[in-house]
Amino acid sequence: MLNGKTALVTGSTSGIGLGIAEKLAAQGANIILNGFGDVDAPKASVAEAGKAHGIKVGYHGADMSKPAEIEALFAYALANFGGVDIVVNNAGIQHVANVEDFPVEKWDTILAINLSSAFHTMRLAIPGMRAKNWGRIVNIASAHGLVASAGKSAYVAAKHGLVGLTKSVALETATTGITANAVCPGWVLTPLVQKQIDAKAEREGVSVAEAQKGLLGEKQPSLQFVTPAQLGDLTVFLCSPGADQVRGAAWNMDGGWLAQ
Ligand code: NAD
Repeated sequence: MLNGKTALVTGSTSGIGLGIAEKLAAQGANIILNGFGDVDAPKASVAEAGKAHGIKVGYHGADMSKPAEIEALFAYALANFGGVDIVVNNAGIQHVANVEDFPVEKWDTILAINLSSAFHTMRLAIPGMRAKNWGRIVNIASAHGLVASAGKSAYVAAKHGLVGLTKSVALETATTGITANAVCPGWVLTPLVQKQIDAKAEREGVSVAEAQKGLLGEKQPSLQFVTPAQLGDLTVFLCSPGADQVRGAAWNMDGGWLAQ
């Protein structure tokens, strides 16, 4: 379905981004990976997922908190892939502290990575998408893009901002073949969440398994984690012709979190 298209997935060396990259690859899209840490294993798994289509897999290590590096990433995409047709803004970090204790530099970094990076990728991608009259923007927000939790001021502000930014861009592109949507996951068991489970276990003096159960029980009625593969399937749908008129949505996949 996505043969000949190129997808940039930010923060795709791990977790949700990697799951989405694999699903887009399986549909035939060329993939540009981005993120920190080991690159060889994610590159190999994405190439494997797209093997039947002979896809091309690239990587650029731009730090998504730095606009100049995001520009370098787009120069790389243009030179090596002829541009970007699908942008999945997924890179994100978390820090938990009450607002009066929140480190100022952490606030700035979370806003830069979780919100401003999407502004930069969209402003750089949309001219090429307009020229082809086709494009897909999928912004990975969060249940915390729609409701809050204590201790997550920067994350909640950035994710609410990302949902609003998505709506604005969806309106600006409403008469074109470009769609922009946000996806709002509940708990997904990735390194980002594992850190919060480990902290909860330590704080409450319980086992990691008990902390995991407690975390789900507080917010997610299904008591099951959402998986990166499920989020990949939703992203594939948003890239399909069936989703041509899904515009400016904030689509939750959260085991019932937002239904409460
Ligand atoms: P993760 O920690 O497993 O992966 C984050 C990815 O982002 C990694 O590839 C990391 O290298 C990359 N990254 C971090 N800082 C970066 C930077 N400055 N520049 C470029 N890449 C950077 O986290 P995850 O749980 O897979 O989260 C992915 C996205 O999903 C985030 O935006 C997160 O807010 C969102 N999300 C996660 C959950 C969850 O429960 N895990 C729920 C809702 C939303």
